[in-house]
Amino acid sequence: MADHDIESIEVDRSKHVFIEFADGVTATFDLAPLRLACPCAECNSRRQKGETVSIMAETKPDDVRITTATMAGAWGLNLDWNDGHSTGIYAFEKLRYWIDEYIVEAHVTRPT
Ligand SMILES: [Zn+2]
Repeated sequence: MADHDIESIEVDRSKHVFIEFADGVTATFDLAPLRLACPCAECNSRRQKGETVSIMAETKPDDVRITTATMAGAWGLNLDWNDGHSTGIYAFEKLRYWIDEYIVEAHVTRPT
């Protein structure tokens, strides 16, 4: 069992993405931080150039919505956003890395 295996996942397209990992760690990601962390090549390139990846997520974070969420194989989530962006695939391994390394803001619980 890898620590990024998934026990359950719940996408609330207007509020958050909740993930329970197989080792009992849970993470709830608000949508704006998740949008801003989009790992696709286009967003990586924008970040490297110092450009914003989503004006909406930066200026109106409460307006950010997921329009479509689909599984990317068994290893990640493909999220489409209401700012028109749809190329990001969020690998569960990456989501786990983000919370373990405090790279992306999330509400995290860990088993004691
Ligand atoms: Zn992207």
